[in-house]
Amino acid sequence: MKIARIETFLVPPRWLFCRVETDDGVVGWGEPVVEGRAEVVSSAVEVLSEYLVGQDPLRIQDHWQVLTKGGFYRGGPVLSSAVAGLDQALWDIVGKTYGAPVHALLGGPVRDSVRVYAWVGGDEPAQLTEQITEQVEAGFTAVKMNAAGPTSPVATAAETAAVVARVAAARDVLGPDRDVAVDFHGRFGAASARRVLAELAPLHPMFVEEPVLPEQSHLLPGLVAASPVPLATGERLFSRAEFLPVLNAGIAVAQPDLSHAGGISEVTRIASLAETYGALLAPHCPLGPIALAASLQVAFATPNFLIQEQSRGIHYNKDADLLSYVVDPEPFRFTAGQAHRGDAPGLGITVDENAVRAADRTGHAWRNPVWRHADGSFTEW
Ligand SMILES: [Mg+2]
Repeated sequence: MKIARIETFLVPPRWLFCRVETDDGVVGWGEPVVEGRAEVVSSAVEVLSEYLVGQDPLRIQDHWQVLTKGGFYRGGPVLSSAVAGLDQALWDIVGKTYGAPVHALLGGPVRDSVRVYAWVGGDEPAQLTEQITEQVEAGFTAVKMNAAGPTSPVATAAETAAVVARVAAARDVLGPDRDVAVDFHGRFGAASARRVLAELAPLHPMFVEEPVLPEQSHLLPGLVAASPVPLATGERLFSRAEFLPVLNAGIAVAQPDLSHAGGISEVTRIASLAETYGALLAPHCPLGPIALAASLQVAFATPNFLIQEQSRGIHYNKDADLLSYVVDPEPFRFTAGQAHRGDAPGLGITVDENAVRAADRTGHAWRNPVWRHADGSFTEW
């Protein structure tokens, strides 16, 4: 069996899918994307396809080596995400070829269901309360929220108090038996993060995410030492080598993205590395159905898994949502805040190819906003 054809599809709301077809007619799907840079990743997939077409799709480990290292220059979001999507598609093909779900090929399931969380937004505590109530009524046992919007270089007393008030409002609705995770999105500097973390501690967040920007990861040891709140990071890290220092720094939760960090192959290795530090895996996934399916396959087979992000109803999903491109919604039917293990081969989903081809004709040009302070200077989104 040989890889015969590789296509990409730019589909709303902000995703890129790839379709790998073999000369035997087996089709695998992947989601190689960097949010806001989808077209660039599409070009990278096209370049990597020059190597893959004509190869045996079952030799994933070898292809991963060549795709990641064979071009001399390596790493970074674009190349690692292109490899990630192709890797997902190859695992899908291997699973379909052997009639086995990917989690069976990764050593078999270690759990029957996977805890997932829902995103909640809302700038005002009242809006937030309403949204969390909806998610609790839908059965979710955990939610994640952004801590704040644009924030002063040193967060003011009012900005800090607003973060605490919003998380307190969340805790009020959730009670002590459900969880809230808080995403700092790298919007605070380390000094402000340290102050906010201390004030959030009594509200017992499950974890705080990206307390500092990835390029300031060298500051994490100090933050870990100062923070009673478990710290998480990893959506903007792309390999084991990049996770090693943050694990060494003492993060509690590693958040590689199946569509950024080298796919199923590399994320399972990152999970194993995290296990040696007693750190837990919570894959980042504000993306589409293929990335989520890949994430769930890893979650079913990973002992040190904590919780899975998913994008259903997320604020980004404007013109399409998680279920827009799948034939059967069952793999993403969450009950009591859990996704349930199936035995469908490969990634375990059936992509609605007609819907994908039709959406690609529209495409998208999603970009994240660029935020500025009142004085006109740039600030982190
Ligand atoms: Mg995040």
